[in-house]
Order: sequence, then C-alpha cells, then structure tokens
Amino acid sequence: MTRVGLTGGIASGKSTVAEALADYGAVVIDADVLAREVVAPGTPGLAAVVARFGPQVLTAAGELDRPALGQVVFADPVARADLEAIVHPAVRARAAEVEAQAPTGSVLVHVIPLLVETGQAGSFDVCVVVDTAAQTQVTRLAERNGYSPAEAASRISAQASRQDRLGVADVVLSNDGDRQELLEQVAELWSELAPSNAAG
Ligand code: ADP
Repeated sequence: MTRVGLTGGIASGKSTVAEALADYGAVVIDADVLAREVVAPGTPGLAAVVARFGPQVLTAAGELDRPALGQVVFADPVARADLEAIVHPAVRARAAEVEAQAPTGSVLVHVIPLLVETGQAGSFDVCVVVDTAAQTQVTRLAERNGYSPAEAASRISAQASRQDRLGVADVVLSNDGDRQELLEQVAELWSELAPSNAAG
C-alpha cells in the first residue's frame, strides 16, 4: 500500500486531481465526504453534535443544518474546537475502516483540505500539495461558488498559508495553468506512485 495525503487551498484543484487519480485506479478517501457521513442522521456523531450545540442545529427533517452550525462555530473558536473534537476523530476512524477494506497494493489517496492545519503531514508516505496563487483561487471561487473577492479572501486567509503547505510537500502540482497542464502533472505523479500500472 502507498498512502498519499493530498491537500491544497480552497478551490486549488484537489477534487480535480483526486478524480484523475481515481481514474488511474487509486482508492480515493475524501475527508469532506467522510465528514458528512459521520454526522448523517442516526449516527453517534450527529447525536454528539446535538448534545453540544442543541436541536437548533437540526433541520426540520432531522438532518444537520450546516449553515446554522456554521454560524455558531464561525465566530467562536471554542465552539469550533468542540465541533472538530467530535468530527475529526470520527472521520479518522471511518478513513481507517475504508483503508482496511482496500485491496492489497492499492494506492490510497486521502484528500484532506486541512491536512496541514490538523498536523497530519507525517501520517502519509507521500504528501501531495496542489499549489495555486491566491489570485487563481479568487477567480475559481468566483466562478464555482459565486464568492465576491472579499468572501474569497476571507476563506483563503482562514486556511494555512501557501508557504506552510509547500513546507510539507513531497510533490507539488502547480495549478495556475489550464486543466491539461494539471493532468499532465497527475499522469507523471501516477507513474511514480504506481509504476507497474502507469498508463502509456
Ligand atoms: P478543490 O477541490 O481544491 O476545492 P476543485 O478541483 O473543485 O478544487 O477546483 C476548483 C474549481 O476550479 C472547480 O470548479 C474546477 O473545475 C476548477 N478548476 C480546477 N483546476 C482548473 C484549471 N487548471 N483551470 C480551470 N479551472 C480549474
């Protein structure tokens, strides 16, 4: 097994890279997807969130009301830490389960937006960072999410700096160019991760 941690700033291109790696045959484990699973209705995670934050963070249908919870934790670091203390261990446990079920010899790619912020760089054989200039993120956040430049800037500055991310990188994928340039770098990365399976 080769365990890869894939990270990058918001809208840097992590999902695009993960999708391409999945097409090559990697087993992709996306922390954002797991973070939703562990607080789905009926989970111990959701029960713990409601116990801490109250029923006002539930929708009428009994699902987690993410915008409501987001408002609570956005301005309150203690609340945010409490939420993370519920969600992060559950995500890691779930990721370990998915890993245990992967076929022997798999290339496992963990997509972790907050890999640097949560100090997980040392947990992987290879850390891959998708690197972009802030201006690229601002442009893509406007296109993808409709964010104003100020909204984009505030999301970007809430994350680790570009320098901090580059500091943990074994491999840097530059994504200020077009998709084709990114995909060529992914092809090269795959040939290093799984030489026997490499396309071409
Ligand atoms: P992340 O998963 O890091 O948030 P995504 O892979 O979703 O980033 O990419 C952010 C947005 O930018 C998406 O809408 C994606 O289609 C687009 N995108 C990614 N890479 C490029 C590129 N090289 N050129 C143009 N658009 C891109």
